[in-house]
Amino acid sequence: MTDQAVLQSVLDRAAAGGRITKEEALDLYRHAPLHALGQAADAVRRRRYAGTEHIATYIIERNINYTNVCVTACKFCAFYAAPKDTKKGWSRDLDDILRRCAETVELGGTQIMFQGGHHPDYGVEYYEHHFAAIKQAFPQLVIHSLGASEVEHMARISGVSAEEAIKRIHAAGLDSFAGAGAELLPARPRKAIAPLKESGERWLEIMEIAHKLGVESTSTMLMGTGETNAERIEHIAMIRDTQDRTGGFRAFIPYTYQPENNHLKGRTQATIFEYLRMIAVARLFLDNIAHIQGSWLTVGKEAGQLSLHYGADDLGSIMLEENVVSSAGAKHRSNRQEIIDLIRKAGRTPAQRATTYEHLLVHDDPANDPADDRVVSHISSTAIEGGTAHPELKLISAN
Ligand code: SF4
Repeated sequence: MTDQAVLQSVLDRAAAGGRITKEEALDLYRHAPLHALGQAADAVRRRRYAGTEHIATYIIERNINYTNVCVTACKFCAFYAAPKDTKKGWSRDLDDILRRCAETVELGGTQIMFQGGHHPDYGVEYYEHHFAAIKQAFPQLVIHSLGASEVEHMARISGVSAEEAIKRIHAAGLDSFAGAGAELLPARPRKAIAPLKESGERWLEIMEIAHKLGVESTSTMLMGTGETNAERIEHIAMIRDTQDRTGGFRAFIPYTYQPENNHLKGRTQATIFEYLRMIAVARLFLDNIAHIQGSWLTVGKEAGQLSLHYGADDLGSIMLEENVVSSAGAKHRSNRQEIIDLIRKAGRTPAQRATTYEHLLVHDDPANDPADDRVVSHISSTAIEGGTAHPELKLISAN
């Protein structure tokens, strides 16, 4: 067979539901024609969601950045402040956090993503206290937050095991982990961009502990900081191996590195084509993960739309607040109607989903679209400028 015929036979096998190897995934990622890759990935998506394959989902959530103070100093991060940098560092108090939760509920949000730096004083007790307070005031909000890196950090601060830390924050109110901190799991690129973070193996080990305790999560990948194609595929292979044992990853979410305001010099961002190829290969290779999420926030709305034709079934969230990747240059903003329209123009029926991916509201008739135009993604002036919390929710419209 010719090389192209070999690639097509791998695509056909994957499209028919067969498992592909790491080497085959790398060959597809490097050499398969883009459209053939998308076609095979879309076939897998349609088969997995037979009956609802016309639907693409989104969620309304709020990122609550509780502090930017961080001891881990990742080189790609434009958000953090070193503990001694008292001018730039800030933390939100509980009242401010609860006010942000109240606004989320008022705007129809169902999920909060508690996300912040590795503060040298914040151990397990801090998260227990905050999650318990949020759950008591807003039991309807799902706390889909943190990740293995935060668990490693808080357990060290409190002098307990990762298992105990997870049990305690879960008991206090954490529903699921957001998969933060995966970055790149293989050792070489991880050390190059986040030398003080736990190893990729440890990140997966903590996720495995969480899954076995009944705390599910998503998984992520940061693309475009100088990693090789082989390292990208190694990253998803490490996730697939863990998922074979636990089944606890609900979704895989690749997103692209944003190059502004950080310490990585001379890195190029992943291109849209690299991103779409990764979405498609992830759909074909990660046969044990249900959801592949397209990201409009870092790659733009059109690429987000295209991702729905390359294997993605979900377009992520309308974030009522986002500050971390925005600090590094992600400039895309959107509102609910725009996301609904993006999904419709991509040929799908939009549906608002829950954290666990159940459809909450299927927008099958444009005449019944939600009229509330306050559901808009925005950046907090506090997180960008530093200082004390801004008293008002500032909505910044798309574009
Ligand atoms: S990515 Fe997270 S852990 Fe790394 S420096 Fe930024 S805030 Fe800290």
